Amino acid sequence: MRDGHRTRVLSLLQDHGALTRAELVRRSGISRATISEVVAALLADGFVREIEPPSGGHPGKVGRPSALLTLDPTTGAAVGIDVDHDCLRVVVADLSHTVLAEADRPLDIDHDADTAMALAADLVHLVVAEAGLEAEQVLGVGMGLAGPLDRATGRPNPSSISPSWVGVDAAREMQRHIGYVVHIDNDANLGGLAESMWGAGRGVSEAAYVKVDTGVGAALLLGGQIYRGAVGTAGEMGHSTIAEDGPVCRCGNRGCLERSVGTPALLESLRGSHGDLSVDDMIRLADEGDAGCRRVIGDAGRLIGVQVANLCNLLNPRRVIIGGSLSAAGDVLLDPIRASIERCALPMAAATAEVVAGELGNRATVLGALSLVFRKVDPIELRPRRAASVARIRPQVSLGTTAADASGQG
Ligand SMILES: [Zn+2]
Repeated sequence: MRDGHRTRVLSLLQDHGALTRAELVRRSGISRATISEVVAALLADGFVREIEPPSGGHPGKVGRPSALLTLDPTTGAAVGIDVDHDCLRVVVADLSHTVLAEADRPLDIDHDADTAMALAADLVHLVVAEAGLEAEQVLGVGMGLAGPLDRATGRPNPSSISPSWVGVDAAREMQRHIGYVVHIDNDANLGGLAESMWGAGRGVSEAAYVKVDTGVGAALLLGGQIYRGAVGTAGEMGHSTIAEDGPVCRCGNRGCLERSVGTPALLESLRGSHGDLSVDDMIRLADEGDAGCRRVIGDAGRLIGVQVANLCNLLNPRRVIIGGSLSAAGDVLLDPIRASIERCALPMAAATAEVVAGELGNRATVLGALSLVFRKVDPIELRPRRAASVARIRPQVSLGTTAADASGQG
């Protein structure tokens, strides 16, 4: 029984980062007295540490805010990898959800899967060394790939990231490159997971995360869990048909949404008037009032909004989080999405769905890859390392789970 309670407390801290004793009681259903006892033992054994709550404490409460508990940083670390169409990002964080080091490199849009994995392996070794970690402290690696993955095999589908990845057993190949256990998921699901743990989706159990980038994909958060569908293609919003006689898509269909609103299509439609722009250029110009760039992004928002309106009618999310590189356009993109929802969705569904920009920007997928590991590590495997190791772990950036956020959840 005591071991069960101990494991439950460790896995709650693993999932949520930082919790107070009161939140542990509420989330576990274990009595306050038992939680106090279990926490005291975990503190004494070095599995858990107590940290000062962030300034501001708990809203609506008076007096000294309660201390937060996290897993001890020496119990282990997780690595996240995001293989995006044109960029590779790697991050390492300890189990208290503190980022220790991160790195990114540009990737050729037509990159070869093997080259990308070799580069990812180099970056993983770089960030692990930079964080001062020993290899055995790394408990696992999460990896995000753009596009749908076969749920049973983890292999990318033909409409995924780039042709060289199709059918590759990416988790196994990556594992062979780096020597750590690798878990894999698609980029939108990981972005949605990260936003729900640390960003704009905290405390919301019914939400959709829409990544608007080279492609368009959604994560569907139902009852607090990512919904993947029977084989893993749930949320492939970019392949919704918006024009049956439209251009042929990489998935084989005609007139898919992403053929009109994916960033390559937007840049292409500006080429005649504006020359070669990057996505950042287009967003900056829109920000400065350039009518053409505002029009292109706004039209994309309107089309995306129609599909989000359909999604609101089907799933009735409370929050729709817009992520991906185009989300940096802010309300130039979001207002037309909101207007389409208002126009097309059932009034009650439209009134429920709050449309917001993601808070984690282009790091959402790589941070979500960390959460894959946090959720998969068996607390029984955790081993705190004392003294000498402690000094080597250098907290840099907290991922931002706070007691105040957590207390908003059921
Ligand atoms: Zn398609």
